[in-house]
Amino acid sequence: MQVPFLDLKAAYDELAEQSEPKMLESLRSGWYILGPEVSRFEQDFARYCEVSHALGVANGLDALRLALVALDIGPGDRVLVPSNTYIATWLAVSQCGAIPVPVEPDPATHNITAEGIRAAMVSGAKAVIPVHLYGQPADMTAIMTAARDLGLKVIEDAAQAHGACWDGHRIGGAGDIVCWSFYPGKNLGALGDGGAVTTNCDTLAERLTLLRNYGSREKYRNEVAGFNSRLDPVQAAFLSVKLAVLDDWNARRAAIAARYLSELDGLGLTLPYVAARADPVWHLFVVRHPERDRLAADLAKVGIQTLVHYPIPPHAQAAYSDMSLTDEALPLAATLAREVLSLPIGPHLNAAQIDHVIQSLRQLA
Ligand SMILES: *Cc1c(COP(=O)(O)O)cnc(C)c1O
Repeated sequence: MQVPFLDLKAAYDELAEQSEPKMLESLRSGWYILGPEVSRFEQDFARYCEVSHALGVANGLDALRLALVALDIGPGDRVLVPSNTYIATWLAVSQCGAIPVPVEPDPATHNITAEGIRAAMVSGAKAVIPVHLYGQPADMTAIMTAARDLGLKVIEDAAQAHGACWDGHRIGGAGDIVCWSFYPGKNLGALGDGGAVTTNCDTLAERLTLLRNYGSREKYRNEVAGFNSRLDPVQAAFLSVKLAVLDDWNARRAAIAARYLSELDGLGLTLPYVAARADPVWHLFVVRHPERDRLAADLAKVGIQTLVHYPIPPHAQAAYSDMSLTDEALPLAATLAREVLSLPIGPHLNAAQIDHVIQSLRQLA
């Protein structure tokens, strides 16, 4: 039996009947940049995230870059980032001329904590970017308190956490700016690149509106040196349809996670830990195993596709060799990169496929 890691075609097929007329309407409307379709999705997404403003941008990396620029972070500034995140979190900081300062995660949740932020604090730090990694919300209550104490702005990287809740509230409005990706493989994925920023601050929303559109409110009048980073209407049309099923699809992921958590217990795998106030959306189901590569190869032999998020932490990438950060300095990021394995958990797995994953792990783990 084959178990694909994520079946994007099945996701498209389920939504085709509903979304194709809307996308066709958008294509035939003659309006191809921003406009009413994007505004409609922005309002829906803001309401979904319980936040006052959502703005569509070109991708998740741009969302982070625009957020940093909107908060006046630039050359020479330092920004605290998780040591074990996807490299986009670091690249956004570097691309603004600022310097990423790694914060080691909590080994149980894989997310950074208020204590970790305090321990990693350096002079010149202006902001922190907590990542809700794997769809597990970080402790925003404690992180906001620590950040305010330390004088840090907070940008949340919510690229993996569409619909997640911390302490009963949706991710999307706790930090100064929250950044989203609609990359096809994300829980709220588009049919190409896309992203968004959300905020409760009117001033920041205004600034981000300018920044995504050449610094321009009125055509050919440029108030600030902005970017070209906008969500396409045809993507917005698709995303509006997908947003309506997001909670249902996240619930399917949660049902698979519940089975994995109960039926894979006691096998020598370290299973994900869910914090008491967290309501995760299971973008990824990440286990740890000391013989990760052997296990992944054995699972592949029985048709089960797994992935590693992420095999090389940002500090060990060639892109960051000039920072001379060592595995010894960031032991958790280094260990997690060696041991983590992501099991299939997409919303289109059937019961037989989930059974096959569980039975196989009982033999192979
Ligand atoms: C996907 C992702 C991004 C980047 O999003 P893109 O839309 O691919 O640019 C940023 N941060 C995290 C944690 C991600 O998973």
